[in-house]
Amino acid sequence: MSKPNFMLCERCGGDLKIFKEASAQGVRCADCGWSVVTTHIEEIKLDEVEYSVSCVGDYKSEAHVRVVSDVAGCNFLVSRKKLQSGSFLVFVGQAEEVLRVRNALVSVGIECNISPDFKWV
Ligand SMILES: [Zn+2]
Repeated sequence: MSKPNFMLCERCGGDLKIFKEASAQGVRCADCGWSVVTTHIEEIKLDEVEYSVSCVGDYKSEAHVRVVSDVAGCNFLVSRKKLQSGSFLVFVGQAEEVLRVRNALVSVGIECNISPDFKWV
């Protein structure tokens, strides 16, 4: 998996490591010691947990089928089949993307379930 840009040191391009101390948390460069604390970065970006999103919707609803097709990256017919089968796994990914997916699903009234517990909503 490729590392997102924010995980590289702005000063030397080295790898940033997440650190947690009593009063602050953020990332610090292992090579030169340059660091950013959480107030400057969105905490959600530091969440490395891989979440699974499953959902239940109505296959007769065009809006539901459309969103599922968009999120899962499959065509209309496949999406409708998935919806017809009841609860199914629609997306697996990290917090930022999961939040976007979850919002898209919820906005059209699809019920979704995220595991493990999703603290960003
Ligand atoms: Zn550095």
